[in-house]
Amino acid sequence: MDVEALFTAINDEALEPNSDLAVLREILQSVTNKKNFDTRTMKRFGELTGRAHQHRRLKPSASEIEFELVGPTGSTRKISEFALQVEDILVTMDLSRVKQCEGEECEALFIDESKNKSRRWCDMAHCGMLRKSKVFYDKHRRVNPAVEAESKLGAKRK
Ligand SMILES: [Zn+2]
Repeated sequence: MDVEALFTAINDEALEPNSDLAVLREILQSVTNKKNFDTRTMKRFGELTGRAHQHRRLKPSASEIEFELVGPTGSTRKISEFALQVEDILVTMDLSRVKQCEGEECEALFIDESKNKSRRWCDMAHCGMLRKSKVFYDKHRRVNPAVEAESKLGAKRK
């Protein structure tokens, strides 16, 4: 299952509150917090997956069993596909692999596919390095105050 597009969409910082995508994000975020789904979110998620199921058909000539969505186009289709993927994650995946980035000021969700489930950041090259440089900075701040100014500037850059 290729969930990259799904996660790119729900991690968008400009995600509109109460949009369908926000509902999908809320569902996955509840999993990372081990929180119960709130009733309203669950109801809307049910509507999204319900609509998607109505349009889901087995692909007639596929060599392996595959589903396709028949009917909806454009953004409705995209949301239906995403809703089915989220449903699939909930049903088939080890949910301790659904995680939220530990980076400061980063709320990105991701699937940890590492062998020992040790991944902590959405992006090692960004959030992981920022964290490492902060640890470095905390260790060195007393001896070298010049590092402080530098690493503050660095942390704000995105
Ligand atoms: Zn991150």
